[in-house]
Amino acid sequence: MTRWDAEAAVVGLGSWGASALWRLAARGVDVLGFDQSAVGRDADSRQPGSTMFRLSRSEHPGLVALARRSRELWAELEDAARTRLFVPSGGLVVGPQDGPTAGGALRTARDHDIDVRTFSARALRFQYPRHTGVPDHHIGVWEPSAGLLRPEAALHAAVGAARTAGARVFEYTRITAIDLVPGGVVLRSAQRDVRVRRVAVTAGPWLSRLVPEVPLETYRAPVTWFRPLEADAGFAPEEFPVFVREFDDGRVLHGSGAEGDQDIRLSLEDRGVAKPTDPDDVDPAVLYEDWSGLAKLLPAKVPGLHPLPARTAASRTTRTPGAPFVLDSPAGDPRLVVAGGSGTRGLQHSTGIGDALADLLLGAGTGAGAVPDAAAIGGLR
Ligand SMILES: Cc1cc2nc3c(=O)[nH]c(=O)nc-3n(C[C@H](O)[C@H](O)[C@H](O)COP(=O)(O)OP(=O)(O)OC[C@H]3O[C@@H](n4cnc5c(N)ncnc54)[C@H](O)[C@@H]3O)c2cc1C
Repeated sequence: MTRWDAEAAVVGLGSWGASALWRLAARGVDVLGFDQSAVGRDADSRQPGSTMFRLSRSEHPGLVALARRSRELWAELEDAARTRLFVPSGGLVVGPQDGPTAGGALRTARDHDIDVRTFSARALRFQYPRHTGVPDHHIGVWEPSAGLLRPEAALHAAVGAARTAGARVFEYTRITAIDLVPGGVVLRSAQRDVRVRRVAVTAGPWLSRLVPEVPLETYRAPVTWFRPLEADAGFAPEEFPVFVREFDDGRVLHGSGAEGDQDIRLSLEDRGVAKPTDPDDVDPAVLYEDWSGLAKLLPAKVPGLHPLPARTAASRTTRTPGAPFVLDSPAGDPRLVVAGGSGTRGLQHSTGIGDALADLLLGAGTGAGAVPDAAAIGGLR
């Protein structure tokens, strides 16, 4: 008779895996978590700062339900970890009225009854003067329920809450293969084989290596921080709130103001120029090309920042061709479920995804608040 080491395991403790670990442990499941390095080292810790949470996601109609569930769970995680993860600051989306970003947010808000306030370009220039060069056909969509999430704190809170609920965490343990066996799964590692009844694989850029039938693509992802030229230059979070801004050429800028003398994190979304790469080949050295396009754009669009970045970092991001992410059991076998490939927009959904993964792994409908749309968005079949 097989001796099982635990009921379940989560392989990869980035923000999605950490949330899955927490949601499984919170339901009383005996669960093990594995990461190939220290928790947080290969994930968001390379991009310290804050990121936007908003309901008015327009990439897929199912994302609003997922965001609503994620928001409830962020509050629950804050209670469980006794720490503040979400700052309800509101958030701004700017761009052409008929474009995918601001236009998409407005349409989503109307379709899903999300409270938003719309600014004309003129009103926007008056209200948020740090955004310059806003053409007349652009609008601003202000979502009061949006806010800032703290990625590193969120990751550590989820792992901490999972541990408190009984999860066991193994850092520096790389799972090298996953074999389905009668009644369960064997996780291979250099240390030893681990036998569990079911496994969630959330290995980010390395997911396709462990589960090759999952079609993800990994890219280099640079992030840049800029320093205001003067103190009190209008970059405090209230004056320069967390935003997404689309330009007429299709480029999309993300950023948020910062407290005190902190630097301003800004990033331009890649527009399909980057080529997919092997996750182990990503060069952490920062190149001129990583930040020069953004630096050239800023004087006309966000003036008042030093022309050279204060800091830069290069990490990995993983996308799912043709979908916002993957969340499924690849062979329709509930012993093995996977999630990942959310590009640079996935952090806000971590808690909802973790809950949906727990549902999938334990059998649909087991959760207190199932996220049915998550599997419909990320399904492989
Ligand atoms: C530069 C950058 C900026 C971003 N900015 C934002 C943003 O502003 N807003 C937003 O919403 N999202 C953002 N994201 C995306 C966000 O970080 C991810 O979508 C989110 O963290 C989910 O990632 P993940 O958990 O699937 O994978 P990861 O965070 O990549 O985690 C995967 C984990 O698996 C571990 N692992 C891999 N292989 C193995 C193995 N074989 N055995 C054991 N462990 C393994 C790794 O060590 C890692 O800890 C950004 C991402 C990047 C790279």
